[in-house]
Amino acid sequence: MDHEDYHKNDCLICGGKLIYKEDYEKMTCYICGKTYDSNVECINGHYVCDTCHSLPANDFIERYCIKDESVDPLNLAIYLMDRPFIKMHGPEHHFLVPAVLLTSYYNIKKDAEMKKNKIKMARKRAEKVPGGFCGYYGDCGAAVGTGIFISLITDATPLSRIEWRLSNLMTAKSLYSIANAGGPRCCKRNTYLAIIEATDFLKKYFDVVIFLNRGIHCHFSQLNRECLKEDCIFNSTYDKNY
Ligand SMILES: [Zn+2]
Ligand SMILES: [Zn+2]
Repeated sequence: MDHEDYHKNDCLICGGKLIYKEDYEKMTCYICGKTYDSNVECINGHYVCDTCHSLPANDFIERYCIKDESVDPLNLAIYLMDRPFIKMHGPEHHFLVPAVLLTSYYNIKKDAEMKKNKIKMARKRAEKVPGGFCGYYGDCGAAVGTGIFISLITDATPLSRIEWRLSNLMTAKSLYSIANAGGPRCCKRNTYLAIIEATDFLKKYFDVVIFLNRGIHCHFSQLNRECLKEDCIFNSTYDKNY
């Protein structure tokens, strides 16, 4: 699949071909839910309004996660990373990680209002973590994203006791796993690892079980100039028993 062409000409939601109709009709944007007069939709019936078509990455992640009802954060992350809003590498992954975790967590809890509030808070916090944080500060933003996630679901503050411990422990666990995989940075690999660690953590400390789509086989390799290829654990199907 040619990632770039696929994004430029096809449906932003599913990659399907676009159909240009002769007449305008009322269509509901798949991302924001607003209705507009349009004459373009994809073969699977998706319509994306002009505003959403040019969204910055974090706006897209926020809007999509708030309305998404799925419960597998890894699947959701891969879906989002496949969309053209999100680059191969970039600080949007720092928000993407807590966003997909909060989405699954609150979808399981069936608390849409809380999910929305926490996703907005996660964005404010994650946007303070700049690109390149991994290499320059020794603290990968995907790992920080898992700490943000645990901080938000426990309402941790700098003065908390147990919540403070759990939030920092979460970042530590993700970071350990990310560091052990070695450099150079790969926002996809680190996103997978962070989500897997956070899922293990939820099970161990919160008794919340999230079933992940097992067997990731990363399909972003060709977009990543520095991909470790056969030395990356996600190069062949990764099937950790969790
Ligand atoms: Zn579509
Ligand atoms: Zn829209």
